[in-house]
Amino acid sequence: MSDTDDDQELGITESKAGQTGKWYAEVVQKAGLADYAPMGGFIVTRPRGYAIWERLQENLDQMFKDDGVQNAYFPALIPESYLEQEAEIVEGFDPEVAWVTHAGTEELEERLAFRPTSESIITPYISQWVRSHRDLPMRVNQWCSVIRWEATDTKPFFRTKEFLWQEGHTAHRDEAGAWEETTTRLGQYEKLYEEVLAIPGMTGRKPDHDKFPGAEVTTTIEALMPDGKSVQAGTSHYLGTRFAEAYDLYYTDEDEDEQVAHTTSWGLSWRALGALIMTHSDDQGLVLPPTLAPEQVVVVPIWQSETKDEVLDYAAELAAELDAEFRVHLDDRDERNPGFKYNEWELKGVPLRIEIGPNEVEDGEATLVQRPDGERTVADRDAIGEAVQDALDDVYAKLYAAAEETVEERIHEAHGRNEILGTLGRHGGYVKTGWCGDEACETEIKDQIAAEIVMLPLDEDEEPVHETCGVCGEEATETAYFAKNY
Ligand code: AMP
Repeated sequence: MSDTDDDQELGITESKAGQTGKWYAEVVQKAGLADYAPMGGFIVTRPRGYAIWERLQENLDQMFKDDGVQNAYFPALIPESYLEQEAEIVEGFDPEVAWVTHAGTEELEERLAFRPTSESIITPYISQWVRSHRDLPMRVNQWCSVIRWEATDTKPFFRTKEFLWQEGHTAHRDEAGAWEETTTRLGQYEKLYEEVLAIPGMTGRKPDHDKFPGAEVTTTIEALMPDGKSVQAGTSHYLGTRFAEAYDLYYTDEDEDEQVAHTTSWGLSWRALGALIMTHSDDQGLVLPPTLAPEQVVVVPIWQSETKDEVLDYAAELAAELDAEFRVHLDDRDERNPGFKYNEWELKGVPLRIEIGPNEVEDGEATLVQRPDGERTVADRDAIGEAVQDALDDVYAKLYAAAEETVEERIHEAHGRNEILGTLGRHGGYVKTGWCGDEACETEIKDQIAAEIVMLPLDEDEEPVHETCGVCGEEATETAYFAKNY
């Protein structure tokens, strides 16, 4: 097979601006991130996809650990009687729960749920471990998969029936402690998006009708995709005392009085990878920030037979030197020409390519090419480490700036049904308007344009943007952000 045939097979055929959904699916598969599993709604995460997830995980895990969270692991299966102790969890997740009913041919005495979320198995154990106020706050996190039999269309990473995530569960003495925990974790999600994924996030609260089942307050970080749709990119819940009461989580205070604890839970899933791919990638394929790229730099030697040895030696030495500081791959494959290699690494999202040909060898230099926009610079061989670091910083800054522009251009105020619908239809993104608090007003918009209230301001007391509800005209109590979403 010639390189040309291969190129066609390798390359992305759909355009991001045209058929975004098909383009996304092609990038996921052709960049080697995931394949579809035989069961609808499930995916197989390939090593490249998993490597990106592992880096994300390392970053977030470190933030948690620096801040008093310990990892633990609980069973994937939860007895029905445990789940039933908290009525809202049962009701909220009921249609999505996968049940284990048999062991071989024997029917189990009690059905076991594959966890859709683990409050109902973790809280009863926290309650055994907490005796007095001295044991609080208690913070446990687990990295695991959950199963939710989603009825809505699934999409690799964004919405799958089984997904990888972390779920943190904490217990506190009072509301103030639990609320601080809720917002701390939300802040860490925001930091992860901004500093690791190069995606600006907006934080807020979900309306009551869209809260996590049983939560007092669900806080959310929303990220805007280039197609104008919002992604619920992570959520942190203040659960009040409801779960503590349901699972007997009490402690004795300084006066030996028994008190009920306040709990929180917070989760971020591989949907973050979906947001990452959707935000930065282009018609050539995957684009990754250097923070998460499995290879940050690929060195491509360009030789003719008479220059092969000197070019390869120079490139290998340079790659070895950089290897001490960066994740570097030397692509010295004999059977592929440089053009083929460029395309392949662009498709796979390597942020920086270093080209080494006879000219670079002769001049003691290296040519650096940045993935997002093809910007080329020539660096001195002697200062290559610094030049690579600068170029990688540059790549990150460019990705962040482009993502930020997407958001800034797409927050509009609108007032009145027609203006809301028109603005959402024309620009996508967020439409800010006054809201009376009635779900019916959201439904009215949703029925017409499939957009919903994705967020309210974090501060409940913030004055609404308009005095009246943008939909019904009654008095507004809040500012609502309407958007189409994933
Ligand atoms: P929740 O426990 O419902 O608050 O979920 C925590 C986070 O997991 C959400 O904010 C989403 O970002 C993510 N998530 C929820 N459902 C799915 C799904 N089906 N596939 C991937 N990620 C999901």
